[in-house]
Amino acid sequence: MNLVVMKFGGTSVEDPAAIHRTAAIVAGRVANGRSPVVVVSAMARVTDQLLRAADAASQGDRAGALAISSRLRSRHRDAAAALVKNPADQAALVTLVDQKFDSLDEILRGLAAILELTPRISDLIVSFGERISSRMVTAAFREHGINAVHVDAREIIVTDSQFQKAIPQDDIIDKKAPEKLLPLAREGKVPVMGGFIASNETGLTTTLGRGGSDFTGALVGGALAAKAIEIWTDVDGIMTSDPRVCPDALRVKVISFEEAAELAYFGAKVLHPATILPAVKKNIPVLVLNSKNPRNEGTRIISLAPHCKSPFKSIACKKKLSIIDVVASRMLMTHGYLKAIFDIFDKHQTAVDMVSTSEVSVSLTVDSNDRLPLIAADLSQLADVKYEGKKALICMVGEDIRGQSGMAAQVFAAIRHINVRMISQGASEINMSFMIDEDDADEAVRSLHAAFFQNPDPDIFDVEARKPLLASSS
Ligand code: ADP
Ligand code: ASP
Ligand code: MG
Repeated sequence: MNLVVMKFGGTSVEDPAAIHRTAAIVAGRVANGRSPVVVVSAMARVTDQLLRAADAASQGDRAGALAISSRLRSRHRDAAAALVKNPADQAALVTLVDQKFDSLDEILRGLAAILELTPRISDLIVSFGERISSRMVTAAFREHGINAVHVDAREIIVTDSQFQKAIPQDDIIDKKAPEKLLPLAREGKVPVMGGFIASNETGLTTTLGRGGSDFTGALVGGALAAKAIEIWTDVDGIMTSDPRVCPDALRVKVISFEEAAELAYFGAKVLHPATILPAVKKNIPVLVLNSKNPRNEGTRIISLAPHCKSPFKSIACKKKLSIIDVVASRMLMTHGYLKAIFDIFDKHQTAVDMVSTSEVSVSLTVDSNDRLPLIAADLSQLADVKYEGKKALICMVGEDIRGQSGMAAQVFAAIRHINVRMISQGASEINMSFMIDEDDADEAVRSLHAAFFQNPDPDIFDVEARKPLLASSS
């Protein structure tokens, strides 16, 4: 069987037109003899709105929460009615949408009475996005003649109980995914499931963290040993930087698992950072493709990318970070200092992105601002502590940066007008990162992009796409 996992993000299912495009893409794969397993996100912006509704309810704003839910109900009902023409099927789908929103409203009312939003309730509330979109997409696919069947992702993706960022239990998923999905695929059916949502071992709904549908796609692809994992989104692939920041960003045609993972972790939203791992384990190629431009070949992520003549493949940027400076002169020459510091981060379950040390001072960066005051209070038992928010991390990724002399000089020359707070290079051969003020971040990315992607290697980057841009600007 020629199995392929196809994950479609929020913009690929945002409205009836997008869902029709998605259906045509899947139908095309079936016509080519492929057996797709489809993973879908909630319709674009729905997860954000569900979180807002949850927040409003938990603050006692019952009417506000129900108003958000009511707008979402209309959006989904309208889409359902537009997607399915047969009156009986249409009525069934609209009823299903209504039932889901009735349950959601009940939870929101309860929350507005209890006034306490736990991570567990938050996951239950956001899960409605994917639970409903996956039903609608299944119905739309059937309209397109695809033999689609809905599968509840929560029966396959089993996680621990860390609500909002649950850790998948690979051994269970590796058993359940083939058990539930392969018989369907063998019968020529196309399973459709929601991404992002999962359940713990007692059956409570969990989620894999924001952007987690990519991760679901990769977990399913890994468990089924699929031929490929396709991540369908709203850009032509992994680009040399976020095209929203740098409109002349170029598509990267091919990139290694390691480079893609680094980019994702350091802020390239196009891929959830955990996506690569299940693919690496089974050496399954991951393709990033554009559902609005399906003929484009996208980005191929493979274990060993071909040699690239340009030093960098892409520039990522992660915002909303904080820097913590810990200065302890009394710890001079004592061992165990770093351990004591990291134990505090561990206690607060906070990941550190970057570290830079001297004899008595340590600077660290974290992305969880809410725990910062507690962390600082604990650290201040050891040393003097200062922290500053609104920082951004810029991460330049490319193979063998360490092996190229003069690279740091070129990077910092390109942003000589910007104040750099912290630098890290060396831990990984493929990334060079530094921290700056968040307000300088977009400008820094653009300057670096202009400096390093003047003459990109045509074997690796889609330079053809730049020609019309150059022609129109001349
Ligand atoms: P989806 O809903 O399909 O999962 P996302 O919004 O999560 O889509 O990710 C796609 C977006 O990622 C793009 O619209 C783009 O703005 C952003 N992005 C950030 N960095 C990059 C990059 N290096 N290459 C491509 N897109 C990027
Ligand atoms: N809908 C979820 C989110 O917006 C998951 C995803 O789209 O990947 O975070
Ligand atoms: Mg995404």
